Amino acid sequence: MEAGLETLRREVFHRNPGESEFHQAVTEVFEALGPVVKRHPEYVESGILRRMCEPERQIIFRVPWVDDEGGIQINRGFRVEFNSALGPYKGGLRFHPSVYLGIIKFLGFEQIFKNALTGMPIGGGKGGSDFNPSGRSDGEIMRFCQSFMTELYRHIGEYTDVPAGDIGVGGREIGYLFGQYKRITNRFEAGVLTGKGMSWGGSLVRPEATGYGAVMFADQMLRTRGQSMDGQKVLVSGSGNVALNAIAKSQSLGATVLTASDSSGYVVDEDGIDLELLRQVKETERARIGEYAERRGGKARFVQDGTVWDVPGTVAIPSATQNELDDRSAKTLLENGIVAVAEGANMPSTQKATEMFLAGDVLFGPGKAANAGGVATSALEMQQNATRDTWSFDFTHEKLEQIMTDIHDRCLTTAEEYGSPGNYVAGANIAGFVKVADAMLAQGV
Ligand code: GLU
Repeated sequence: MEAGLETLRREVFHRNPGESEFHQAVTEVFEALGPVVKRHPEYVESGILRRMCEPERQIIFRVPWVDDEGGIQINRGFRVEFNSALGPYKGGLRFHPSVYLGIIKFLGFEQIFKNALTGMPIGGGKGGSDFNPSGRSDGEIMRFCQSFMTELYRHIGEYTDVPAGDIGVGGREIGYLFGQYKRITNRFEAGVLTGKGMSWGGSLVRPEATGYGAVMFADQMLRTRGQSMDGQKVLVSGSGNVALNAIAKSQSLGATVLTASDSSGYVVDEDGIDLELLRQVKETERARIGEYAERRGGKARFVQDGTVWDVPGTVAIPSATQNELDDRSAKTLLENGIVAVAEGANMPSTQKATEMFLAGDVLFGPGKAANAGGVATSALEMQQNATRDTWSFDFTHEKLEQIMTDIHDRCLTTAEEYGSPGNYVAGANIAGFVKVADAMLAQGV
């Protein structure tokens, strides 16, 4: 790493002790910026990069709620408003027991560059809670969301900060959060949250957008080598919103999806995943994935140990969570002839795995580019809210396709311009960074 950047990186680590995921996200960006600061030393000299690593505002709050047995539960809530150079803070909320400040900061930091890359007027932020929704009743989820919003509402707004979903936060949770916001403020401010239901300000294609976008991005990458998604053997991890829609899009483009997973293990289905059955098991019944294999009647097998990356395939779409694909898995994938990896989740590949893919000449789409379709469609939802308009599915889908193509092309031309042709990691980080840095320079200290 370039010396000035290395010094700065150490300073960031020192100021944010113990936040390994945040350190990892910062390292990835800094690794890419060498040629940029060489050409534009003003970015380091003016302190832009140092400012970028310090969130504009970090909010940590208590979330008290009453469970079904009448017991009092306490969770911790977070909202990190990282950067508003390009627009209101924008980014999801994650409800998962692993959440602590370091996770929210890594996600918020990623979001700055991802959002810049979409070309939409949105800044970067992220939030969430260490609340574990698994096994909780609908009433408990509602009371938790209401309590969470009772604090959060004062910090957000159409022009300030616009949260959405992430792991553990889907349409149901956004509904409860929106209901509480409306009740407290007495305002139907549709643009305050995205991922809303279709009858109350949501956008068509938003639920599908992250998974669809990741597969569109994979398809674009493959086309640079005269291939496409058609006929590929696809490995998908996860079975949440991103994974399910990545499976749907892969299938519609003619690929066979072999795998899906959850925290209990994974399934392999050589005939191709039966998406309807998987949705029934994971979305409707919220059951374990082993149930899928059982009901598939001998066609699929459930594997408890190992990961989906042990299965031979040509395209990988990691869509579960951070650091789910390590160097050991990367080695297996490379040995099995993987051609392309498009990250549906945020930072699912470890730093080592990413380096191995790049060294192995694999088409590698980092999350900030490949999964940007979700937040881009959130921005389309904000546009519809601002104009009180509702767009058709086809119109919105076309916009998403255009945005993913633009992101793909922007990554490639930027990588080329800065001396790393074909390197989407360099292209995504540099293009996102330069856009935010220039806006910050223009807006003063
Ligand atoms: N959580 C999603 C992401 O990682 C979407 C955020 C949004 O729509 O604001 O980009």
